[in-house]
Amino acid sequence: MFYAKEIEEAEKLESFIPNDEILDLLENTKEPDKKYVREIIQKSLNKNRLEPVEVATLLNVKDEDLLEEIFEGARTLKEKIYGNRIVLFAPLYVGNECINDCQYCGFRTSNSEIYRNSLTMETLEKEVESLVDKGHKRLIMVYGEHPKYDANFIAKTVEKVYTVKKDRGEIRRVNINAAPLNIEEFKTVKDAGIGTYQIFQETYHLETYKKVHPRGPKSSFNWRLYGLDRAIKAGIDDVGIGALFGLYDWKFEVMGLLYHTIHFENTFGFGPHTISFPRLEPAINTPIAERPPHLVSDEDFKKLVAIIRLAVPYTGLILTAREPLEIRNEVIKFGVSQIDAGSSIGIGSYSHDDLENYKKSQFVLGDQRSLDEVIKELTDHGFIPSFCTGCYRLGRTGEHFMEFSVPGFVKRFCTPNAVTTLMEYVVDYASPETKKSCEIQIQRELDAMPESEMKQQLLKYIDMVKDGVRDVY
Ligand code: SAM
Ligand code: SF4
Repeated sequence: MFYAKEIEEAEKLESFIPNDEILDLLENTKEPDKKYVREIIQKSLNKNRLEPVEVATLLNVKDEDLLEEIFEGARTLKEKIYGNRIVLFAPLYVGNECINDCQYCGFRTSNSEIYRNSLTMETLEKEVESLVDKGHKRLIMVYGEHPKYDANFIAKTVEKVYTVKKDRGEIRRVNINAAPLNIEEFKTVKDAGIGTYQIFQETYHLETYKKVHPRGPKSSFNWRLYGLDRAIKAGIDDVGIGALFGLYDWKFEVMGLLYHTIHFENTFGFGPHTISFPRLEPAINTPIAERPPHLVSDEDFKKLVAIIRLAVPYTGLILTAREPLEIRNEVIKFGVSQIDAGSSIGIGSYSHDDLENYKKSQFVLGDQRSLDEVIKELTDHGFIPSFCTGCYRLGRTGEHFMEFSVPGFVKRFCTPNAVTTLMEYVVDYASPETKKSCEIQIQRELDAMPESEMKQQLLKYIDMVKDGVRDVY
């Protein structure tokens, strides 16, 4: 089997997810005290990561007014630290062959109804050209787990993406969502110039994990749990964790994400770069995805996003197009920092739109609007969409942490970079309606800035972009 020896070693490690402790904490905080809840919210607003007992307490809040205070806390934290920027990216599915049998995923090996295929270097180039032509600058590349998609293949495909240059742009940052690798393999992928490496644990509840991952390398809970430790040891500083909500109790999963965060802090001195919280979506011939065993209601979903924001105030939060528009618009205010837009998740479906795409897709998307529509929607609501990749290309890892911890970082770097990258979009790609809405939003940003050298510099950069200079930061 794939990684047989390494998995055997990983299985000997002790899990850092204390199952019984989590259940006890959730049980013992069932009657949260108002004053204590307010102190916890305040602790987070003072920029502290919360402790397990505090997060368990928030998870048990049912009182409507107190819940509203949690939501308000998340909104305040977002506004105070991160401002109104939303970073946009697109997922790019490279191949859907898979040797695992994850019961919730359309790509699982036992699913005979899915069309299997993988991008070649030529079709990959077409996909990237198509994404660049729409205005994208940041990608997350997604791979099934299969001998075909080994570390060399992943590295080669990433390198290929960076070589695609079109008149109006190029992809400037590639993140990865793929199976856990060993340290040497992670080094190979890092050398291709990736940004974040994401691995979702799916569920932190061991028993459930075993049930939904019956075979293949993914059936080892520990091999996956320690996957991002190996990535960090290989030199990848930006790692993304996540749980797939719907497989087990959502409160337990939030606690799992917290313990994972604490494990990183204790082991490496820094936490995860991003946290993702996808909900199970329907997938072709996949009953468990149609009827999730622990369905998370929209109300609970909003709670969990707000509580994750307060629990780990320094991470980026990623919301995906799996969520419908109404939910997206609400939880963005609770501190989401990145969303995907204009997403298409069939293999080859950006450059080749075909009606059978759903048969090559992992699941069905909840939000199918184009990038242009999403940008208009965001700017109409006072957000500033950003394609910034400045930190990454200046060699700065952990940009979310810097936004959080370095005073003035957002004002000095993030907002100006958001404005210039949005202006590139306006000049190069926007429809007339979106252009108008973006220009209004950019003017709002400029009006809100006090006169300063920095503002003069930004005005100069905006003029440069209008004159055809690209990628100023
Ligand atoms: N094969 C790699 C892995 O499993 O880590 C990476 C790619 S996998 C396609 C990316 C993520 O998709 C998984 O980690 C899982 O959380 C999510 N996913 C799988 N099935 C899903 C479904 N039916 N609805 C929503 N998300 C799903
Ligand atoms: Fe394969 Fe990943 Fe889907 Fe599991 S979630 S079946 S590993 S692609």
